[in-house]
Amino acid sequence: MQAVPRVHTKPEVALRAALYGLGLRFRINVPLLPGLRRRADIVFRSVKVACFVHGCFWHGCPSHLCWPARNPAYWRDKIEGNRARDADTTRRLRRAGWAVVVCWEHEAPGRAAARIARLVRSRSGLAGAL
Ligand SMILES: [Zn+2]
Repeated sequence: MQAVPRVHTKPEVALRAALYGLGLRFRINVPLLPGLRRRADIVFRSVKVACFVHGCFWHGCPSHLCWPARNPAYWRDKIEGNRARDADTTRRLRRAGWAVVVCWEHEAPGRAAARIARLVRSRSGLAGAL
C-alpha cells in the first residue's frame, strides 16, 4: 500500500491504455469545478464525461476496504472524509451537466474502458457510427 495517493496510479495508466485501444482520446487530471481543488482523472470534455479511478483503500471500496488495525479512528475519519468528498464532487459535476463514471482499482481495465466508451458514444450521438 502506498502511503500517499499518486497522480498517475497503475490502475489509471491501465485504464488509459485500454481507452486508447478503443480509439478514444481524452484529457487527464483536469480541474472541472471552479474554486475547488478537485480533478477528474480522465475527461471527455466535448461530451461532458468525467471519470474517476478510485483506489480501493483510499476511497473506501465497498468490496475491499479493510480498516487498518493501527489508528482505526484516524483512518475512519480519513476514508469517510474521502467518501464524502467523492459524493460531493459527483453531485456538483452532475448539477453542472457532467456524466460521472467511477471506476475502482479492482475493476478490470478492459471492462471499465468499455463502460466509459459506451457512455461517451451515447453522449456524442454517434453510437452507431463509431
Ligand atoms: Zn475494490
